[in-house]
Amino acid sequence: MSETAVVWFRDDLRVADNETLAAAVERAGTVVPVYVFDEREHDGEGMFGLPKRGARWGRFRREAVLDLRASLRERDGDLLVRHGDPRAVVPAVAEAFDADVVHLQRTPGTEEGRDERAVESLLTDRGVGIERHWTHTLYHLDDLPTPYRDIADTFTPWRKAVEAEATVRDPIPAPETVPTPEFGDAATVPTLADLGHDPDAATHDDRGVLAFEGGETAARERLEEYVWTGDNLREYKQTRNGLLGADYSSKVSAWLAHGCLSPRTVHAAVDRYEAERVANEDTYWLVFELLWRDFFQFQFLKHGVAFFTANGIRDVRKAWRRDDEARAAFERWAAGETGVPFVDANVRELNATGYMSNRGRQNVASFLADAMGVDWRLGAAYFEARLVDYDVASNWGNWAYQAGVGNDSRDNYFDVLGQAERYDPGAEYVTHWCPELAGLPAEYAHRPWRLSEAEQREHGVDLGVDYPTPLFDVEERYRQL
Ligand SMILES: Cc1cc2nc3c(=O)[nH]c(=O)nc-3n(C[C@H](O)[C@H](O)[C@H](O)COP(=O)(O)OP(=O)(O)OC[C@H]3O[C@@H](n4cnc5c(N)ncnc54)[C@H](O)[C@@H]3O)c2cc1C
Repeated sequence: MSETAVVWFRDDLRVADNETLAAAVERAGTVVPVYVFDEREHDGEGMFGLPKRGARWGRFRREAVLDLRASLRERDGDLLVRHGDPRAVVPAVAEAFDADVVHLQRTPGTEEGRDERAVESLLTDRGVGIERHWTHTLYHLDDLPTPYRDIADTFTPWRKAVEAEATVRDPIPAPETVPTPEFGDAATVPTLADLGHDPDAATHDDRGVLAFEGGETAARERLEEYVWTGDNLREYKQTRNGLLGADYSSKVSAWLAHGCLSPRTVHAAVDRYEAERVANEDTYWLVFELLWRDFFQFQFLKHGVAFFTANGIRDVRKAWRRDDEARAAFERWAAGETGVPFVDANVRELNATGYMSNRGRQNVASFLADAMGVDWRLGAAYFEARLVDYDVASNWGNWAYQAGVGNDSRDNYFDVLGQAERYDPGAEYVTHWCPELAGLPAEYAHRPWRLSEAEQREHGVDLGVDYPTPLFDVEERYRQL
């Protein structure tokens, strides 16, 4: 009798280069693909009472599930869709379809790991097998030169070892057919409102860099546009610190985070571009950034919950502020109202679109942790609730790194004023998101507190009324750091 296999889709919402799906299709006569909208993600509370996931993340995820269902239907298949707790839903689906095995994506998140073990224990009790597949990094977990528990905690030695001793596997083609039962109404995807998100909070803001539509189809289109039509790879390293526009960087993070795109597919596009157009340091640099992504994924697998502690993976003790005053200062940071335009512009972009450039993320994180001295985890939890590309390892790993408690022990704080002048010399970015400063010469747009009363009148900006006065004397603070 042929096998029945459940495929539990998690952060791998694609049919191409998806080992979980491919393994099930290869071996089973009947495949039951299932996606569970996790009620804890959509309705739950994260750290510090902040929401767990934002409306933009929810919209992207829902679109990705719709697109996955369409791709499965094109392959004579379908997708079973549920809204609930996957720990109960997945074993129940296996039982309902009399499944022999459940295939699932193994992820490095600690909560996700607990879920896997809970599902496994119920399945084992019922005599159902479980197969985990590692599908979301560039280098496969099994191909690392050293087991993940022994990998170096600093990036460069790890990267060099991997580049010297491991090979990126070729992407796996999407299966031609996926033999599923028909699910009828059980394939209905809940509305955003049903999922507990405010649809009005998820609309696209025209000021944003990209509309970020969820799904494998949109991911492929974005990769095609960035690499081939826009021909941007040849200067990626030079443009990647940009702040405005769609093409200063690839913008593929959200599709990677939701698994609509695999890093191996991006790598294959770079390879082909290098063969057909140009190979240079810029083209390599996109792969270099994917290695940073891999690094944090494997670090998370190694260190787990230590990444969520204030002292981080190396138990670095710093005097983080967490009192009411710190919380009030954090609220101003989160509202984009610190009175420091480069910080505010970036946080306003995040709030309006769910996205922020890498340069922006480094600066606002450093400002909260280093200049304000506020517990960095408040910022990380805030990003978790807002980012459309939220990824547990990339977010918490980068925040810990920036706060000096992660994979780098150096105190590498960013002077956000110097950074603003270097990366936004004409203040176009700052005035894009803080239009109240648009009438100011660039040096004042970055340091409006230097305006005298007469200059405020001359330029039509009333500090404290049109734009906030700074939280503290920022220039003095950077002299002390
Ligand atoms: C405080 C902080 C929080 C962050 N949180 C997240 C997050 O939740 N999700 C997320 O995907 N990225 C996160 N990043 C990493 C990075 O900022 C984004 O991946 C990047 O800005 C996304 O834009 P892009 O796709 O155009 O990147 P590109 O510059 O085009 O880079 C290509 C890809 O490489 C990967 N990448 C690039 N830089 C990094 C990095 N520093 N760490 C890990 N991967 C990287 C991403 O997958 C990215 O899509 C964070 C960075 C910081 C400093």
